[in-house]
Amino acid sequence: MTDRSNTKQLADQVIATETILDVTPDAVLVSNLGVASYVLAGVEDRDRNFYMWGSMGVTTPVGFGLALSTDDQVTVLEGDGSLLMSLGALSTVGAHGPDNLVIVVWNNRKYVTTGGQPTHAETTDFVGAAESCGVRATQVSSDGDFENAYREAVAHDGPMLVVCDVEEIDPDTRPPYDFAHIKRRVRESLTESST
Ligand SMILES: [Mg+2]
Repeated sequence: MTDRSNTKQLADQVIATETILDVTPDAVLVSNLGVASYVLAGVEDRDRNFYMWGSMGVTTPVGFGLALSTDDQVTVLEGDGSLLMSLGALSTVGAHGPDNLVIVVWNNRKYVTTGGQPTHAETTDFVGAAESCGVRATQVSSDGDFENAYREAVAHDGPMLVVCDVEEIDPDTRPPYDFAHIKRRVRESLTESST
């Protein structure tokens, strides 16, 4: 196996997260525990950020459920390790096909929060797995390509998965909330917009 960080350009997860907020400022963002949530909170802490707290492998399932419950845009900020833990969720997403759901996979090929152990992302074809489940998918590795892919994914008539190869980072920001508060805040935001 090759170390792709030596041979391939990688996107900046902070810039890509800023792009998501620029393109879809009103979206519900469901972020994986650890780095995805820390980066999102550091870029902008907002009512529609649904940070996973101590619950690995459920980011895509939670985002999928939310997408069925609202017409608003729902974007999942997944990790490669978390998606591997619940890869079967892609089959459910493909079967139901909510067109307001985008799944972004921050692919750093490691379990960063638990110490940087390698995941099996190096030998797993996330794009192939998603498309086999009926979910359109693409893979990018630069900030510019990510923006184009994310815009395409939001516009696509159906769910879409965007795998974004990123540098490993370990941000300092920690959202200062417990899970009950996070859930209540997102729920109230969605309720207000539907009344
Ligand atoms: Mg990872």
